[in-house]
Amino acid sequence: MRRIGVIGAGQMGSGIAQVCAAGGLDVRMVDVADDVLARARETVERNLGRQVARGKMSDGDMQAAMARISAGTDYAVFGDCDLVIEAATENEEVKREVFKKLVPHLGPDTLVATNTSSISITRLAASTDRPGRFVGMHFMNPVPVMQLVELIRGIQTEQATFEAVRELAQRLGKTVSVAEDFPAFIVNRILLPMINEAVYTLYEGVGSVESIDTALKLGANHPMGPLELADFIGLDTCLAIMHVLYDGLADSKYRPCPLLVKYVEAGWLGRKTNRGFYDYGGETPVPTR
Ligand code: NAD
Repeated sequence: MRRIGVIGAGQMGSGIAQVCAAGGLDVRMVDVADDVLARARETVERNLGRQVARGKMSDGDMQAAMARISAGTDYAVFGDCDLVIEAATENEEVKREVFKKLVPHLGPDTLVATNTSSISITRLAASTDRPGRFVGMHFMNPVPVMQLVELIRGIQTEQATFEAVRELAQRLGKTVSVAEDFPAFIVNRILLPMINEAVYTLYEGVGSVESIDTALKLGANHPMGPLELADFIGLDTCLAIMHVLYDGLADSKYRPCPLLVKYVEAGWLGRKTNRGFYDYGGETPVPTR
């Protein structure tokens, strides 16, 4: 693998671009708007700059990594990529549209991976012209820091495709965990119901934002409280995953908490919009309930 395409330059896409570029791969990053791409480049530059300041990377290596990332809005740049990783918004319609636009630009051997947190790999694969060369490659947030990549085979995924992305994940210094293609796979099948339950705990008045997060941090030894984590993931993404669990497993225990729905309706999506269960406008985050 030499050239990697990344679709979506949000939290995840920019992180994936960063680790790939730092790992010596050429990266083509595409999003819908130039300002999003400019922000993504700034994020990568800031993160790599921090590594240089800590002595973990030389300035020359940082400049070389930045030079390996190109960004634009035209899917034609994916023509000579070995692998394209889709990291657009967690919405099946959006992803289907992305693949419809992407397919005509791909070389016959290009592999396609999706970073979806929950949506069926089998179904997304079937919406492309290459279900055998399609796979789930679920990076964790923040990509440069988190060790895990969850790999998910759709029913059609060929072994060679799976091996190629496993090798790439290892080359990027990640550890792989393999999950079968069921709603939300392993990490989010377990994590999101916990977060949703934390929102119910808030909704029912069992505890405040602060008491819930403190309880789980100090009582269960979690590095972040569940509401803080929800803000970090993005409340729209959390809600989308709960919908996939609820629809895909037809069990009422996965119903999204109405308060989570309300926050998303308000556009309070967490850190990325500066407000979620905490307000991030000031020096330190302030609980909103
Ligand atoms: P985000 O909202 O930060 O970024 C999504 C990006 O996709 C935006 O920049 C948006 O402009 C772009 N986009 C939307 N439609 C597009 C299109 N048609 N073409 C190109 N770009 C398009 O979201 P995120 O947190 O980066 O999540 C992206 C994906 O990664 C989702 O599938 C999500 O489930 C998954 N994921 C998220 C996390 C997390 O903690 N946030 C963790 C693992 C996986």
